[in-house]
Amino acid sequence: ESSAKQDFIRQIVREDLACGKHAAIRTRFPPEPNGYLHIGHAKAICLDFGIAAEFGGACNLRLDDTNPAKEDPEYVRAIQEDVRWLGFDWHDLRHASDYFEVFYLAAEKLIRQGDAFVCDLTPEQVREYRGTLTEPGRNSPWRDRSVEENLDLFRRMRAGEFPDGARTLRAKIDMASGNMNLRDPALYRIKKVAHQNTGDAWPIYPMYDFAHSLSDAIEGITHSLCTLEFEDHRPLYDWCVDKVDLAGHPELLAPLLAKGFPNEAGKPRQIEFSRLNFNYTVLSKRKLLALVEDGLVDGWDDPRMPTLQGIRRRGYTPSALRLMVDRVGISKQNSLIDVSVLEGALRDDLDAHAPRRMAVIDPLRLVIVNLPEGHEETLRFANHPKDESQGEREVPFSRELWIEREDFEEVPPKGFKRLTLGGDVRLRGAGIVRCDEAVKDADGRVVELRCTLDPDSRPGMEGANRKVKGTLHWVSARHAVPATIRLYDRLFSVPDPDDSSDGKSYREHLNPDSCRVVHGYVEPAAAAAAPEQSFQFERLGYFVADRYDHRAEAPVFNRSVTLRDTWSA
Ligand code: ATP
Ligand code: MG
Ligand code: MG
Repeated sequence: ESSAKQDFIRQIVREDLACGKHAAIRTRFPPEPNGYLHIGHAKAICLDFGIAAEFGGACNLRLDDTNPAKEDPEYVRAIQEDVRWLGFDWHDLRHASDYFEVFYLAAEKLIRQGDAFVCDLTPEQVREYRGTLTEPGRNSPWRDRSVEENLDLFRRMRAGEFPDGARTLRAKIDMASGNMNLRDPALYRIKKVAHQNTGDAWPIYPMYDFAHSLSDAIEGITHSLCTLEFEDHRPLYDWCVDKVDLAGHPELLAPLLAKGFPNEAGKPRQIEFSRLNFNYTVLSKRKLLALVEDGLVDGWDDPRMPTLQGIRRRGYTPSALRLMVDRVGISKQNSLIDVSVLEGALRDDLDAHAPRRMAVIDPLRLVIVNLPEGHEETLRFANHPKDESQGEREVPFSRELWIEREDFEEVPPKGFKRLTLGGDVRLRGAGIVRCDEAVKDADGRVVELRCTLDPDSRPGMEGANRKVKGTLHWVSARHAVPATIRLYDRLFSVPDPDDSSDGKSYREHLNPDSCRVVHGYVEPAAAAAAPEQSFQFERLGYFVADRYDHRAEAPVFNRSVTLRDTWSA
């Protein structure tokens, strides 16, 4: 089976299967559990899991936990939840730390082959010896240690005999290479920090390139998809895979096989694609962490955050994110995508699927004087104008309603199509009213509109089709449920918050109006929503019942996105 999508990675996979290079493909999604996943990761997840599914392969979720200082089990749990939420499931859940014994045996093999050495240079000296882009580096004075001495020192590093940073294990490649990554890169460092998975078992930890390439080889990953910044690392990736040759040396896998892992070792191929970046936000776990720690947002799942937890709470749907990823496409061209692509995908998804409801966020009382006191009736509204399968709901109607304050103007500006003193307007699904009087308080503020309902304009009557300028949404004052409504907007007010050429850091570009909380009313059928249910509130936008705070008796809705793009318009 194969996908209809035609990007260059799927093309490679298709060819590799057609020529028999692989009987089945295997991919992995390898997040480091040092923060929450963000919308950039959604691209990698859709690609890694999507390709495996489309081509009948398998995708592992691998927690790339080789850097113990910044990692936390809270992140591990959230990552799993986010991947599942996006609609994917993993073949195997692995931790790079599952492979620490194998990495260690692989390092000893490199030492015995003369491909790695223990180096005593300090970090500053290592930098000095490395050279520059235009100048070759110099060999470490420790580069020619004997295999025996290297083995002895490396074993003592492993035994915890030396302090942090005292020594490293380095690959012996080429200090004159034009690729800085090949100038005898470190493979292991000493770091006496407890690890969330292995505890105090290891005083040394493998470096990213070594651990990542070998993890891919161990799991039999056929296509190791990563972002463009790793393109320059690919020669080192290949060097590690080839020099260790796990597929040809099953004895290195013994510690894993003993723990019941299968032998799936192979030779992976790394393929790079461009990162997903959006304007009006930052997509770096470090910066997102700073926003949380400095209290500039209400946690990782603040609905303004670009984390998957955040945008989920904002009302983004998994299908909208998958649609966004498809629209952005896969290429090797780094680019900044306009956030309207993200918002547009959500609008299109919710327009097609979200039921319609009525809510009023800035209420003004409207009394229909020609209906008797206590009058009430039940109207039937379609849940979705373009999808009959969504059925109908009951909407209570009565003598006193709430309408939107901005839908009335005593002195209407030119072109105003809503309600004015003496003017007519249609109340959605109920009939046409004329405003006879605007009641004011002592400050001259309008507090109530007194209107007459045209009895011939009720639904189903011949006068119902009479042409009037505007149609307003409303809720019945007696039946509507008071609701907290959070009007979210973009977190940053400038397109490139990371651009510090004006001397300002991204945190000085926060949009002061990114969250406005108002108290309004929703119709009963909206109040009864389950948490995370999305609606179009007619004329207002798309809203979601808050995942954590919403209750039927005390509804809380978050605005997911406005009906139209008001930023670029
Ligand atoms: P950050 O810079 O935010 O910390 P990262 O790249 O360090 O991100 P990882 O946990 O290492 O985050 O990422 C896991 C996988 O997701 C990697 O394969 C990485 O290439 C991919 N990924 C991360 N950010 C993006 C992005 N913006 N667009 C596409 N893929 C991404
Ligand atoms: Mg990374
Ligand atoms: Mg990172």
